[in-house]
Amino acid sequence: MKPPPFLYARPQTVDEAIDLLARSGEDAKVLAGGQSLVPLLNFRLARPTVLIDLNRIPELASMGRSNGSIRIGAMVRQRTAETSVDVREAAPLIGQALRYVGHLQIRNRGTVGGSIAHADPAAELPAVALATGAEMVARSPRGERTILAGEFFQGPFTTALAPDEILVEVRFPATEGARTAFMEFARRSGDFALGGVAVILRADGGVVGEVSLVALGMAGEPRRLSGAEAAIRGRELTPDAIGEAGAAASGDVDPFTDVHADAEYRRELIGVLVRRALKEVMA
Ligand code: FAD
Repeated sequence: MKPPPFLYARPQTVDEAIDLLARSGEDAKVLAGGQSLVPLLNFRLARPTVLIDLNRIPELASMGRSNGSIRIGAMVRQRTAETSVDVREAAPLIGQALRYVGHLQIRNRGTVGGSIAHADPAAELPAVALATGAEMVARSPRGERTILAGEFFQGPFTTALAPDEILVEVRFPATEGARTAFMEFARRSGDFALGGVAVILRADGGVVGEVSLVALGMAGEPRRLSGAEAAIRGRELTPDAIGEAGAAASGDVDPFTDVHADAEYRRELIGVLVRRALKEVMA
């Protein structure tokens, strides 16, 4: 399939991109790595009149540490973040999750900002953003604002970004000293997951303190597994505690049914993944 016709613009700065987006109206779209948008164009599921290519804007492709966070520019490639020593030291969960995203070729082009803005219910990075409490930095002609992950993801392929806003950066709080794990299940390597879980926890003398468990693929957006978190907070991660957390996780979700798996399967799956991820995190 070929995409429908569109006008193409290649700005050199964020300001220029914002101006173009504002002037092009609601039918315009920004193009990042194109790994989701281009298939949507080719299947004619998206018909933007104008494509604004962000690939030649150097300021969107920078990364760095500041104020206890790792800042990742929206156009940083997923593979760059996955292999970055800075990212691994500050927030290892990012790399642990990214290795599950599609195939290497997709991660070479796909961007961190593209994955967050696209907000696929089965995507890994939105779950990492929620688990870490990341902040999304958006710019528009009205200026810059910061949106917490808990408010950013609003449903399947739906975020708090306004049509004239560009996601410029994601700030992931550093999780140094915490234990992290990411686990998911897909029928074939590289497929979108049927379900997955991101884990961040701090254990003092074997007793779980702060804990964040987030599920993907169970709802339209990533979800905190608060029952499972409560099941282990203040306890040692004994086999009994891990079993209770798995059972609680199945109760935390109200999954959907689709052609890949029904709701009952997904409910069972999240319990299994939580148990496995908690065993891994303490190993
Ligand atoms: P694009 O495709 O260019 O854009 C996606 C959408 O986000 C568009 O609507 C675009 O307008 C918008 N957008 C992009 N950047 C911005 C921005 N800075 N500000 C505002 N809006 C923006 N993803 C996973 O998470 N897990 C997987 O397992 C997975 N498997 C895949 C398998 C295949 C075969 C393919 C083709 C893709 C897969 N993907 C998977 C998708 C991949 O991760 C994409 O890279 C990602 O979803 C979108 O990133 P992108 O940079 O390619 O964005």
